[in-house]
Amino acid sequence: MIARTRFAPSPTGRLHLGHVLAARIAHTIARQSAGGVFLLRHEDIDGPRVREKFYTEIEEDLQWLGISWDEATLRQSSRSFAYEAAIEALQKTEVIYPCFCTRKKIQDEWIRMGAAPHGNSGHIYPKICQKLSTTEQSKKMASGTPFAWRFDAQKAGLIAGPQTFTDLRHGVIPVIPDLLGDVILARKDIGCAYHLAVVVDDSYQRVTHVTRGEDLLASTHVHRTLQALLGLQEPIYLHHPLVLDEAGERLAKRNDACSIRNLRENGLSPKEVLRMVQNDFEDAMDRIY
Ligand code: GLU
Repeated sequence: MIARTRFAPSPTGRLHLGHVLAARIAHTIARQSAGGVFLLRHEDIDGPRVREKFYTEIEEDLQWLGISWDEATLRQSSRSFAYEAAIEALQKTEVIYPCFCTRKKIQDEWIRMGAAPHGNSGHIYPKICQKLSTTEQSKKMASGTPFAWRFDAQKAGLIAGPQTFTDLRHGVIPVIPDLLGDVILARKDIGCAYHLAVVVDDSYQRVTHVTRGEDLLASTHVHRTLQALLGLQEPIYLHHPLVLDEAGERLAKRNDACSIRNLRENGLSPKEVLRMVQNDFEDAMDRIY
C-alpha cells in the first residue's frame, strides 16, 4: 500500500511538542513508503478562534523542523459544500436530528438528572431534542430558532451494523457508535463540526493512515460509524500517547512553554526539539513495522 498520511492542526494556536510528535510520525510513515505522500491540512472551521498568523507559524515551524509536505495545503474553511453534502446524505438516512438546545438548557438537564456536569455522563448530551416530534422540529425551524445537527448515534449504529477499526497500537477495536453520545456534526454557528469534517476530508484526500493523539481514540468510534454510513474508505489508525509536560500534564495551546516558537526562541535547534519526542516517536514507529 502506498501511504498517504496527513498532519491536521487547527490554526487556533501555536504548535507544541505533541504536534511535533504527530507530524513526525505521519511524515515518516509517508517517507518510508515508496511513492508515499504527506499532507498538511489546516483544520480551520472554528472561525471565531482561527488566527491568520497561525497558518504561517505552523508552516514555518514544520519547515524549520525539516518536515515538508507534498501537495498544496488544504483549508477546511474552503470545503463547506462537501460538509453540507454529507449532512444531506445523513439527513436522508435519518441518522441526524436538529438540536435547538442552548448550553444552559443542557446544563440544567444534567442537574435535573443528577449528573454532575463534569462527572462520567456529564458530557454526554441528554438527548433532549431527540424526543421532539417532526411537527415540533418543523415549527422551531420555521420560527428561525438556530439549531445544530446531532448524530443519532444509537440509530446510526443499528443502520451501520457491527464495525471495527484497526489501530496499530491497540489492535482491532469493535466500534461502540454511541461511546460519545449524540455528538454535534454541524454546529449552529459554523454549519459543520470536527467529527464530520475530518471524516469527509480524510476520505477526499485518500488518507491511508490517520495518526493522532490518544485523546482522539474515543472519537474514532464516531468516525468509523460515519465512514460506514457515508460509504467512505476506512483508514488505518495510530493513536499515540500524548506528550506530557514536566508536571505530567498534557500540553495545551495556552501553555506556551512547550510551543515550538518558544523552544526556537530559546535557542534550541531542530534536532534538539525532535530529540525531545524521540522516545515516543520510536515507540510509535515500532508498532508499524
Ligand atoms: N485538528 C485536530 C487537532 O488539532 C486534528 C485531529 C485529527 O488529527 O484527526 O487536534
